[in-house]
Amino acid sequence: MAALDLSRFTFKQLMEIDSCTRCGECITWCPTFAEKQDQDAIAPLHKIEVLQKAIRQQYGLRARIFGAPPLDEAVLTAHASGTYDCTLCGRCGLVCPVHIDTRSLWIAMREQLVDMERHPEAMSTLRDTVSSSYNISGDANTERLIWSENLPTIPEGVKGKEHAEVVYFVGCVSSFYPQSYSIPQGFAEILDNAEVDFLTLGGAEQCCGFPLIIAGMGDSARELVRHNVDAVRRTGAKALVATCPSCYHTWHADYSRIIGEPLGFEVLHSTELLRDLIAEGRIKLGSFGRRVTYHDPCDLGRTSGIYDAPREVILSIPDIEFIEMKDTREYSLCCGGGGDVEMSDKDLSASVARSRLEQAQATEAKVILSACQQCTRTLAGAARREKVRIRVMDVVELVARVMER
Ligand code: SF4
Ligand code: SF4
Repeated sequence: MAALDLSRFTFKQLMEIDSCTRCGECITWCPTFAEKQDQDAIAPLHKIEVLQKAIRQQYGLRARIFGAPPLDEAVLTAHASGTYDCTLCGRCGLVCPVHIDTRSLWIAMREQLVDMERHPEAMSTLRDTVSSSYNISGDANTERLIWSENLPTIPEGVKGKEHAEVVYFVGCVSSFYPQSYSIPQGFAEILDNAEVDFLTLGGAEQCCGFPLIIAGMGDSARELVRHNVDAVRRTGAKALVATCPSCYHTWHADYSRIIGEPLGFEVLHSTELLRDLIAEGRIKLGSFGRRVTYHDPCDLGRTSGIYDAPREVILSIPDIEFIEMKDTREYSLCCGGGGDVEMSDKDLSASVARSRLEQAQATEAKVILSACQQCTRTLAGAARREKVRIRVMDVVELVARVMER
């Protein structure tokens, strides 16, 4: 069996592993452990303890004198399963009194497990699919604009432009999963209506690399990152906008680090651009006389710090009644769709989604809004399964619906 390779962890992470006080606060806030309390391996504190023990066992004084003993097979198997039964929502890090950046630590743990070939089979399949098809669905990448085909009029920005001020990076889920087509359709119509000089990359867009990075397979994402940066640079764009928070986060936080140089253009989430276009009077909104609530996507909120832009967009719609859920903003509960958990444990993802749906139901809202195609898909799935009459929409879909044309 492969030994523990500490090079996957930064010096700061090794210090963090050591600094855990075992207070257990993270356990109280963990949405996946809340759903599977009989499985200690999921608990954030437990994952850190396993690593502390393994480091001592492999690198402590005894190991240096007598040699490192092999890692315990049963412990390693449970640890691998617990590390992937995590939505990477980051709530554990938010409440940690010693400020351990848990989300980054869990990704480093996954990288270590990939090195040891202890990752779930589903992650290998994901890597093979993305490497061969350049997207997560396995469809032909040339079909990336299939969502645009039933638009009444296809805006010029969707196909047919080589240069523009703004690149709309559509992302794999919105490009290939029919349930999400209305997000890029609505966003393209909004941009066109607001006279934004934009284009999409079509078949030249490749997966942003996020699913691989969070699977612990970031090394396999490097070529995708390089390809996407070059494709955007060729357009001469000054800004890139993404409707997907995970694409946004990866472009905004990871791309420069991965390529080792500044991107040379701004990266925005769609809610930021919508807020600005509304403030400039380039989008006029009609009324929406219903009670709505808003679900903060983890990758937009806790991970990227964008809480206000989507709320400002919602509150700029006349006649709307907006009510927050019990867990909101920084403390928002995950929808269950993050961290690739849907691929490794579908039932766990569904259980977390049901808990979030219950919080939305408590507000008596008629509509759950989010700003992520994955959150809307996951929450809509929960509403369907639980037979709850509540509509789930992306903020983009709502703006497209009430926009004056
Ligand atoms: S990131 Fe979220 S799901 Fe993962 S251990 Fe922390 S609180 Fe639990
Ligand atoms: S909240 Fe932080 S310090 Fe407390 S047990 Fe969890 S990781 Fe350790």
